[in-house]
Amino acid sequence: MFSEDFLIGLLRARRITVLTGAGISAESGIATFRDAQTGLWERYDPALLASAEGYKEDKSLVWGWYEWRRAQVLKAKPNPGHLALVELERFVDELTVVTQNVDDLHERAGSKGVIHLHGSLHHPKCFSCNEPHEFANTIPNIAIEGERLEPPRCDYCGGSIRPGVVWFGELVPEEAWQQAEDAVIDSDVLLSIGTSSLVRPASMLPDIAIVHGAKIVQINPDPTPLDSKAHYNFRGKAGEILPTLVKALSDLI
Ligand code: NAD
Ligand code: ZN
Repeated sequence: MFSEDFLIGLLRARRITVLTGAGISAESGIATFRDAQTGLWERYDPALLASAEGYKEDKSLVWGWYEWRRAQVLKAKPNPGHLALVELERFVDELTVVTQNVDDLHERAGSKGVIHLHGSLHHPKCFSCNEPHEFANTIPNIAIEGERLEPPRCDYCGGSIRPGVVWFGELVPEEAWQQAEDAVIDSDVLLSIGTSSLVRPASMLPDIAIVHGAKIVQINPDPTPLDSKAHYNFRGKAGEILPTLVKALSDLI
């Protein structure tokens, strides 16, 4: 599957940036956005579930849905794709994971310093004053997708707590973006895994990498707009291709 040239190129890389999307968590049982055939994304306008306007209109539907998603994530485990990325660190001086995912499966697999471009289900904040809110350390008691739940109140101002994720019309956190851009500019290889490459500004990171001379490697079972720009395209599941890649690298050295 991997040519020797490709493997040697990876081993020579001083720094690799890995950009991940919902696809890397698919094999942990977390539904991707574009692949979802059922669920609330299908029944409701995404703008209701993922915008400040939608939240204002129906706070308990939106909060309940994110709590349902958080429950799914807490019950899920990192899969061989997340774990192989941690092993890949052994073969390069520096590896930075930049994710569009709002789950914490990279961290639970053992990746350090993960950059979250779209925030996290686990770090909610106040809709009014932006102050972070601490969850009680329990799995949310929401078994059914679509169940409504009143959001908790802010300890500081009494405002409603909202999910700590980046919604449509909101900017990616500046610090996360800066860290991601710096990592990409400094990298010899950008590995794009499980992302449809449709959501900006994350989808611009491979372009920035190319301008700075990096090679682009993509892992995805389906075609994406990145196909024509990538130097290497591997069609398949992250949880299968990444462990095979780590094995091939170990066999070579
Ligand atoms: P996306 O849902 O738009 O695309 C997922 C991509 O993953 C697709 O290209 C699909 O072909 C690919 N894929 C599916 N199964 C795969 C597998 N086993 N291995 C490798 N690739 C696989 O996701 P996106 O590009 O991340 O953008 C959608 C937005 O939805 C993001 O903003 C993200 O924050 C959010 N989201 C996050 C999660 C999560 O945190 N796990 C889940 C759903 C959506
Ligand atoms: Zn507040």
